[in-house]
Amino acid sequence: MLELAALKELLEQPRRIVITTHHKPDGDAMGSSLGLYNYLIQQGHHTKVITPTDYPDFLAWMPGNGEVIIYTDNIQQSAELVANAELIFCLDFNTLSRINELGELVRSSTAVKVMIDHHLEPEDFDDYRHWDINACASAQLVYDFIVNQLNNKQLINKDVATCLYTGIMTDSASFKLPNTTSGVHRIAADLIDLGAVNWHIHDLVYSNMSENRLRFLGHCLSSKLEVFPEFNTTLITVNKEELEKYQVETGDTEGIVNYGLSLEGVRLTAFIVERKDKIKLSLRSKGEFPANEICKKYFNGGGHRNAAGGESTDSLEEVVNKFKLILPEYKKLLIQ
Ligand code: 5GP
Ligand code: MN
Repeated sequence: MLELAALKELLEQPRRIVITTHHKPDGDAMGSSLGLYNYLIQQGHHTKVITPTDYPDFLAWMPGNGEVIIYTDNIQQSAELVANAELIFCLDFNTLSRINELGELVRSSTAVKVMIDHHLEPEDFDDYRHWDINACASAQLVYDFIVNQLNNKQLINKDVATCLYTGIMTDSASFKLPNTTSGVHRIAADLIDLGAVNWHIHDLVYSNMSENRLRFLGHCLSSKLEVFPEFNTTLITVNKEELEKYQVETGDTEGIVNYGLSLEGVRLTAFIVERKDKIKLSLRSKGEFPANEICKKYFNGGGHRNAAGGESTDSLEEVVNKFKLILPEYKKLLIQ
């Protein structure tokens, strides 16, 4: 492990830096990555953000977005950047399997690897770690890294603030999850003072649905929501045909899972979707209920206690049945 002082010294000279984040990046993945990007470029570092896959349009507006390299569209260039990097920042993930093929490139790179993350159970591939599972977003940890570890708050300009605010806003579900502490609100307030236009960011992320997306959401809620009152659980299942019918694009399903939790008394909700090559499952829960345990134990996944995910190569029907059969095992926790 590298000491903070050694990392600081490394960053005193302009370096070749790669920032990467998990596949199918969400608001925190892009916000933390581009926040750090906009910080590092001010110090003359040659910095590139590489995402393993593409990401939705409602995230494709942040400062620096035009410079992002998508690995699947630029495999050769990405491999060269990773191989030649002196530092690689790994943001919002902590196991290399979360960045697909990029993972082995990162593992075999001689660069100093810095992990900034808030997920459970980190894999041991990094040289320096700013990791805290109590943080509501990796963007919060990037703020803390810049302000309290690098002592460079003066470099949080409007661009940095905008990206970090986006990460915190999205990962805290608009400041409403239990890890949205007073400290998170203070950071958010600080970012607003530093140039983040909170209401505009909210509009850019949440008020830009296509008509298809809005109608797809309506379809999910009116026709696809299953309620299991005996388990305080809800489920929305979507198959390939429905994705085609509503021309559902990358990111269009994001957030739908949360609606299942808005029903009174519900403690667990699932969103199961039939993707091209696999079934993807998203779970959300309230309070102490360990959604991540179900994902880890039964669906090759993991995540946070209240927001977790997994996947399967079984059929949609099999995955749905499996989920329903698991509920009795957790009945006690679900009805208390
Ligand atoms: P989402 O439901 O939004 O896809 O994911 C919620 C959270 O669950 C993510 O932030 C991530 O921590 C975790 N997660 C989602 N899918 C997977 C997966 O396939 N494997 C693991 N380990 N974690 C996942
Ligand atoms: Mn995150």
